[in-house]
Amino acid sequence: MTDRQEVAGNKTMVNVVLPSHILSRIPQLQPGQVALVGAGPGDPGLLTLNALMLIQQADVLVCDRLVSDEIAALKPAKAELINAGKSCKEHVLTQQETNEVLVKKAKEGKRVVRLKGGDPYIFGRGGEEVEFLMDYQIESIVVPGITAASGCSAYAGFPLTHRDFAQSVTFATGHIKHDGKLELDWSALASDDRTVVFYMGLNNAQLICDNLQAQGRSADTPVGLIERGTTLQQRTVFTTLSQLPQAIKDNGLKPPTMMVVGEVVSIAQKNEKKAAQNAEQRNEKSALAQA
Ligand code: SAH
Repeated sequence: MTDRQEVAGNKTMVNVVLPSHILSRIPQLQPGQVALVGAGPGDPGLLTLNALMLIQQADVLVCDRLVSDEIAALKPAKAELINAGKSCKEHVLTQQETNEVLVKKAKEGKRVVRLKGGDPYIFGRGGEEVEFLMDYQIESIVVPGITAASGCSAYAGFPLTHRDFAQSVTFATGHIKHDGKLELDWSALASDDRTVVFYMGLNNAQLICDNLQAQGRSADTPVGLIERGTTLQQRTVFTTLSQLPQAIKDNGLKPPTMMVVGEVVSIAQKNEKKAAQNAEQRNEKSALAQA
């Protein structure tokens, strides 16, 4: 049930009125409970309905470094905002401190929303937080979010499992806890029919590039790097496996950046060319029609 309303320009605003059978399924956060909510990769339009509705129920919103200000601003005006991971000049909370804040606020009887970039259970430490809350007898719910791999790839035009090129996709970390040595199953990741998405991979790009090639992945394998994907500042850089570390340096890529390794990356470039040709043809047609 929607209510369409024309606004300035030719944009159409849709005021969504949810039917009661959907509304009744939106989780209701009780005092003293914590909701771990995935906020998606950046674009506020990628929040789920449950995420939005829970943010609006919060007494306290505990945000990740990856959650944008515009999403945090969806909280009720009187709700407290705690930035758990803002680097700048502010103190960055350790994971232990964050866990403790969640427990403290819940014990005070607050409705706590812990908002995390992407999906809480994909490289998001959501599992650790739920375990900690359980140890303190605090009830929690988890709301999935669109993880960076799917959000950023869709916006950059990489169909992760296009069946002509990839029969599987792997989400891999490029960073190990406490800066440990990155040891992955390189021979499995090197198979040609697989797309590999690296989270947090910038600092280990050389190691990723060397190990995949050592296990037989071709030096020419296309690699797409997406910086701040799905936000207004999204930037995509195309390179190849052997050129990966240099491309990161040359383009000054900074976190959050996602690396996609595999033939599916080349589809974005092909489609971009086709889209440009199609637009040209449409322009020619409309020019002829007006003549
Ligand atoms: N839980 C998050 C991942 C957190 S790990 C999720 O499900 O998406 C942090 C890493 O995720 C970053 O280093 C980067 O590799 C990736 N990432 C998250 N958001 C991103 C974005 N908007 N653009 C590009 N990469 C992103």
